[in-house]
Amino acid sequence: MTVSIGVTGATGRMGRAVLETIDGRDDCTVAFAVNRDPDGEAVAGIDLEPAGEIESLLTAHEPAVLIDFTGPESAITYARGAAEADVAFVTGTTGFDDGQFEQLEVLSDEIPVLHAPNFARGVQALVNVVGEAVQSLPGYDVELIETHHNAKRDAPSGTANRLLAEIEANGDFDGRKHGREGFDPRESGEIGVHALRAGNVTGEHEVVIADNHEEVRLTHRAEDRGVFAAGAVDAAGWIAGQKAGWYDFADVIDA
Ligand code: NAD
Repeated sequence: MTVSIGVTGATGRMGRAVLETIDGRDDCTVAFAVNRDPDGEAVAGIDLEPAGEIESLLTAHEPAVLIDFTGPESAITYARGAAEADVAFVTGTTGFDDGQFEQLEVLSDEIPVLHAPNFARGVQALVNVVGEAVQSLPGYDVELIETHHNAKRDAPSGTANRLLAEIEANGDFDGRKHGREGFDPRESGEIGVHALRAGNVTGEHEVVIADNHEEVRLTHRAEDRGVFAAGAVDAAGWIAGQKAGWYDFADVIDA
């Protein structure tokens, strides 16, 4: 079955990567692509729709799934439109606050909604391995370092937050410490978090677990945005057959 997909944020880094990925596959097609400032530009051979009501685009083109990589506010608007048109929604957007997550979860009563802060399969493996490592090394110091390109807006990254949740679920920690400055010695039980923003780095996450004169470093490095796009398109193919509900990328991988 060929899955018909609508794409938002089409001129963004990820929107382009998603359109190029769909273009290179024969199990899916682009129903439409839209950006808030389309500028008459085509991406991966697809003419962009003029920005407007997402509901009318969804009604006119009837995709099975809408893939979104934009920003938190627009993602909520697009998710509302998808719910209105009864279209499944896959978002890789990061930086949602608790209230915005809640709004997405409410919409998942009406349509299938899948959010993943990282669509790389290796990151899912890292999440699993980090939980196991933290559990096997109680009392060790844990620090997380993430590096992204200089245009990334949210910090720490969505993936870092996902890893931090896994670390906290598997050990006895007192809280997160974001960066250090001046007289600021490390407190036991804190998880150090460091966000680097430089150049064109696609995305790196490293968890350092150290004590007892030894150190474990677990690292994931994304070399190309295509890895995230491929995961998001796989997620779209999977979610097209699901009932309304809240899903994450682990559901796609497990299937
Ligand atoms: P980008 O800035 O290159 O692109 C964002 C796109 O969204 C642009 O086309 C922009 O015009 C559009 N946009 C932004 N705000 C909008 C609004 N209010 N209304 C309509 N359109 C809007 O960013 P990017 O690098 O493509 O990343 C986009 C999002 O995806 C970010 O939240 C980023 O953290 C996330 N991301 C997730 C993954 C993952 O695997 N889940 C991977 C990479 C990036």
